Amino acid sequence: MIELFIRYPALKERLSHVPLGNFPTPIHKLDNLGSDMGSDSIYIKRDDRAGRLYGGNKVRKLEFILGHALETKVKKVMTFGAAGSNHALATAIFAHSVGLKSISMLFSQPNARYVQHNLLASHFYDAELKHYPGKNILILATFFELLRHRVRYGYFPRVIPPGGSSPLGTVGFVNAALELKKQVEERSMPEPDYIYVPLGTMGTAVGLLLGTVAAGLKSKIAAVRVVDSGMANIKKAEDLFNKTNILLHSMDPSFELYRFPRERIIIEKDFFGERYALFTQEAMEAVCLIKDREDIDLEGTYTGKTLAALISDCKGKSLNGKVILFWNTHNSVDLTDIVSKIDYRELPSGFHPYFEKEFQPLDK
Ligand SMILES: *Cc1c(COP(=O)(O)O)cnc(C)c1O
Repeated sequence: MIELFIRYPALKERLSHVPLGNFPTPIHKLDNLGSDMGSDSIYIKRDDRAGRLYGGNKVRKLEFILGHALETKVKKVMTFGAAGSNHALATAIFAHSVGLKSISMLFSQPNARYVQHNLLASHFYDAELKHYPGKNILILATFFELLRHRVRYGYFPRVIPPGGSSPLGTVGFVNAALELKKQVEERSMPEPDYIYVPLGTMGTAVGLLLGTVAAGLKSKIAAVRVVDSGMANIKKAEDLFNKTNILLHSMDPSFELYRFPRERIIIEKDFFGERYALFTQEAMEAVCLIKDREDIDLEGTYTGKTLAALISDCKGKSLNGKVILFWNTHNSVDLTDIVSKIDYRELPSGFHPYFEKEFQPLDK
């Protein structure tokens, strides 16, 4: 049983949950990277291995979101993201695995190899893929699609917000922090001083923040912003924290209401670069370093930028003697076999430029 339900049995009765992954995910010590950084206390949380079909941070969120969709007899889910969205792919895979149809409403982004890969894999898992040049058109098209479904099929698809960062999705990372607490008690690692995690739609970082407070862990969340500041900022983090907290408290009053612990989340903004999904030099150096030293695969949109922040903070000596946990949010399940069987011309034509135009310069 998941830690959240062990600690708060009333939640087990009230919150729908469908098991999609393998938990707890392992924690490993990064000895080689640590010795490069002059530290013997850098660890990694292997959420890249969160699921057999697909890993990464979306699995924990979807266990609650799709659990609720199944409970409420939904037939189809609709979600949103950039063309190469890992969240859209994870939703396609896990919706398919529990017998739901899915639609991905996607907007344009800088081209990269992973964009092709994720699109082809989403197609393999039967997602209905739609491409829009910008977010405003996408929002309009969403209303149109919702109405079209109502008229044509007699139902609305269930809307899953970008990144799965609804309060319900965020509960997945409250549980993740309780899971970490148990692993600390079992001596998988000492209690972390800092948890490094990307900050996108914020469900991951904010869920960990609420979960560490509830678990009584002292860890601070170093949230490395990888989207623009209008999307991810402290006000929005506070709002998501409070909504998630109220959701849990309303279902089980023994889950306390906490004050937003502003001092325990550090938003790092210097590693974002110019725009979302545009790789930076430091991020790609960090990706190469951890591949070299630890044989771990990261990427340039989220985890490379986050590791770059961790490395920079180590060099700046602010982490001297601290226990650091790098939370790996990236998937490591190899889908190349699936992807290699598909011809991109089966996709709607709006996606073809990702297969016909160059990749961004730092995508090596
Ligand atoms: C979606 C994603 C994130 C961002 O997590 P949020 O909860 O949206 O902040 C981080 N890393 C990877 C690899 C992702 O796919």
